[in-house]
Amino acid sequence: MRLAVFSDIHGNLEALEAFCADAETRRIDRYMCLGDIVGYGADPEACVVRVRSLPNVEFILGNHDHAVVGAASSMRRDARRVIEWTKRQLSAESLYFLQSLDVFRNWGDALFCHANPYRPLEWYYVADKSHISRSFARSRAKILFVGHTHVAMAITRRNFFCVYLRHPPDGTIVPAAELNRQIFNCGSIGQPRDGDPRASYLIYDSIKKSVEFVRVVYDHAAASRKIREAGLPEVFADRLAAGV
Ligand code: ZN
Repeated sequence: MRLAVFSDIHGNLEALEAFCADAETRRIDRYMCLGDIVGYGADPEACVVRVRSLPNVEFILGNHDHAVVGAASSMRRDARRVIEWTKRQLSAESLYFLQSLDVFRNWGDALFCHANPYRPLEWYYVADKSHISRSFARSRAKILFVGHTHVAMAITRRNFFCVYLRHPPDGTIVPAAELNRQIFNCGSIGQPRDGDPRASYLIYDSIKKSVEFVRVVYDHAAASRKIREAGLPEVFADRLAAGV
């Protein structure tokens, strides 16, 4: 079974379409979206509709999805502004869909969530040692898949220390270790923040026991232009070209 794990589309339809086209060529059996379909970008409704059209797709709630159907008080002012705008762009059906999303999914010995497995609605980033340790300690899954940081990463725990693979290049294949527990971050489709503007996702092969990191070129200039034309904060347009 080959599972495409992706996250943080953030209303970027150009990046989402490029990801869908790339994944279609890679014999994907199932799709797992780890949340933040909306926020920052100019095409929230089109992204919700498109991502829901994928075959065998499941979804997890992200903090931006949560914000458009709940409270956005903990967000920065410019992000909150986009959330308010996004609410007005979404159909009643899409709002209902976002409201229905859950914070976890289990599949075999894997657990999927947007931010972290122990305080999912507090949206802690699994990026520093303390949150990584807590993620291992307070979950039982052998393999944990997260998004939220917008930075792809693989972490393998060996006895009492962790081995990190940061910014894995396109095509990197990491064995899903039989003996060790692991955390994989798939990066972001619509707003990568690791200095590489290409959309980022991963493919988990549960038979071959491997995780492949994938990057996909997309038209970020078009996505940036739409953000400016919609009157949304410039910063969210500017960052796409640099992938930061
Ligand atoms: Zn995000």
